[in-house]
Amino acid sequence: MERMPEFELSRPASYAEAATLLAAEPGARLLAGGTDLVPNLRRGLGKPSRLVDLGAVQGQAGLVCGEQHWTLGAGITLARLAVEPRLQGAAVALAEGARAAAGPGHRTVATLAGNLCQDTRCVYYNQSEWWRQANDYCLKRGGQTCHVAPQGSRCHAAFSGDVAPALIALDASVDLLSARGTRRLPLADCYRDDGAAHLTLASDEVLTRIVLPAPAAGLLSGYRKARARGSMDFALAGAACALRVQGGELASLRIALTGTNSHPLLLQGTEAFVGSPLDEAAVAALGKLVHKQVSPMRTTVMQSHYRRLVAAVQVQRLVAELAERAGHAVTA
Ligand SMILES: Cc1cc2nc3c(=O)[nH]c(=O)nc-3n(C[C@H](O)[C@H](O)[C@H](O)COP(=O)(O)OP(=O)(O)OC[C@H]3O[C@@H](n4cnc5c(N)ncnc54)[C@H](O)[C@@H]3O)c2cc1C
Ligand code: SF4
Repeated sequence: MERMPEFELSRPASYAEAATLLAAEPGARLLAGGTDLVPNLRRGLGKPSRLVDLGAVQGQAGLVCGEQHWTLGAGITLARLAVEPRLQGAAVALAEGARAAAGPGHRTVATLAGNLCQDTRCVYYNQSEWWRQANDYCLKRGGQTCHVAPQGSRCHAAFSGDVAPALIALDASVDLLSARGTRRLPLADCYRDDGAAHLTLASDEVLTRIVLPAPAAGLLSGYRKARARGSMDFALAGAACALRVQGGELASLRIALTGTNSHPLLLQGTEAFVGSPLDEAAVAALGKLVHKQVSPMRTTVMQSHYRRLVAAVQVQRLVAELAERAGHAVTA
């Protein structure tokens, strides 16, 4: 890794001040825990004129569990999410996602917003400057061709964050603040399937909080992740699920995946399973649905077809685990 590039540093005391700084200087970037941004800058993947360090913003790490909604501050750390007692029940997918991300040292400073807004990844991109130069760069930064899909005109770098699928399965929305005011967006709508521009947030918007519907009675959730190294690694495929079973039938079902596309993917078509038994046939059909909808490309060291199969199996095993917790054992 190289030295950090030259930059100005600001430490605003509020998100509003941070938004004003972003609006005033298009080259400015937000810095939270820095565990995604700093390694990328040290690889020459960006040259912000100013870093707006959110570390001094007060009251950014709260968790309020209200009757209608649960609200999480954008600056809550992954380490706290992983052990937070109120997240060990219905919303445990969120704690499991946080626990699966990066290493223990990273998680002590890594924030929820930073995890949701992390960059997409590719074996041709997360490399040193000289390596990328030797390969004539690529579409995502500085080049004309995508080495993964040379015939195409878009980047397929994968979104590999562990927490976004959990939050999407739990139907989360986020509040975005800019000099123009605040807007609330379903988390799934914060992303698009373009590895070079995967966030729909404007460059001057600050993600300030995450809002979940308070979990309905009987809701069960979980997150599973396949990775090459068990100790610490990005997801080859990760799956989160939130479901309710009533009288042996599915009363609600949401599934989201990571590591397979340029955005966290909310599985489409799960509503068709509501009102039907949660049995082997349903688990098999869900696997097929995942197989059809995910589109991993050759952006990791593992083959894309393997990641497609793993994504389907992760969903099947996770749904079977949740079914067992609901008292309806099925075989995945
Ligand atoms: C060795 C290593 C392994 C890792 N493994 C994993 C892993 O397994 N799973 C995983 O999910 N991640 C992993 N990461 C990536 C990273 O650690 C996490 O994504 C972390 O949660 C990022 O949070 P942060 O606060 O450090 O973000 P930062 O690095 O500070 O910021 C990340 C991005 O988010 C933007 N941002 C930050 N806060 C806001 C905000 N409030 N509003 C809008 N934009 C904002 C920043 O501008 C930047 O673009 C790994 C990183 C390393 C170095
Ligand atoms: S998918 Fe293609 S354009 Fe995107 S980072 Fe990889 S090689 Fe570059």
